[in-house]
Amino acid sequence: MGYDIAIDGPAGAGKSTIAKMIAEKKGMIYVDTGAMYRAMALYMIRKGVDIDDPDRIAEACQDAEITINHEDGVQCVFLNGENVNDLIRTEEVSKAASKTSVVPELRKKLVSLQQELGLMKDVVMDGRDIGTKVLPNAELKIYLTASARVRARRRYGEFLSKGESANLAEIEKEIKERDHRDMTRAESPLVQAEDAILVDTSEMTIEQVVDKILSLIDAKL
Ligand code: C5P
Repeated sequence: MGYDIAIDGPAGAGKSTIAKMIAEKKGMIYVDTGAMYRAMALYMIRKGVDIDDPDRIAEACQDAEITINHEDGVQCVFLNGENVNDLIRTEEVSKAASKTSVVPELRKKLVSLQQELGLMKDVVMDGRDIGTKVLPNAELKIYLTASARVRARRRYGEFLSKGESANLAEIEKEIKERDHRDMTRAESPLVQAEDAILVDTSEMTIEQVVDKILSLIDAKL
């Protein structure tokens, strides 16, 4: 039996940064499930599928094969054989992914892939429904969150550090809209699993969050 860690939470809480660091320190595989939903959204955008039409998405997703592999600990996501890692981090894809991910048929496909990965390897998997649906038996479940204001400021800082311009109020608005969609959808909404440990990172540094989770892992073992 493997050892799996589930990290769920809203956009911008720091899940991927933290999950990657924990995986590296513990010699586990980091699985970013958001990237899979993003690759699916990219497919819909490219095909010109109306992202507000669940029936069309349910049909179209049957022709999109998502696979992942890991190179030097970095996850690469493939869409019908093409590495799309560099194409899925745009605002357009973020927004589309939070809309297309409400479709049950699309989720079913990705959840099976994620469950296979969890069975094969010791994973640190992040997403929205990992503790509640994908890996309900994960040895440790973390619900990572931060206030919308803090999450927007972090995103804003990322844009500026890349030399891109951004509007803080606009980012906060988009984050709140995305939270609302993720938390209120019928299929696998974002909720804290009953047995997940809440970690609010609003007032914490990355190092403090990593230390906290490492101590939770040690306490579990
Ligand atoms: O985590 P990330 O921001 O990359 O995820 C993009 C979108 O994919 C989320 O807003 C959410 O709607 C969807 N998602 C999901 N379930 C997951 C991971 C992501 O519905 N396990």
